[in-house]
Amino acid sequence: MGTPRKCPECGTKLLRIVYGMPDVGLFEESEQGKVLLGGCCVSFNDPTRGCPDCGWQYTPPRELTDEEKFLLETFGRID
Ligand SMILES: [Zn+2]
Repeated sequence: MGTPRKCPECGTKLLRIVYGMPDVGLFEESEQGKVLLGGCCVSFNDPTRGCPDCGWQYTPPRELTDEEKFLLETFGRID
């Protein structure tokens, strides 16, 4: 396991997805195709890498907190 470097769909090199309000430098990197902008809204489990060609995204596996495990066991869902 580990973070994939290439898109499993088309083989294109994956780009890092950056969240938050981008500054000028980040805009430039995005223009040059070095990073993907993920927007300023961050949810609890966001993809960290994306394919610039087909839009495939990689979301890393995430450990559940004790509270979430409890909710999942009790209600079968987290939200
Ligand atoms: Zn792709």
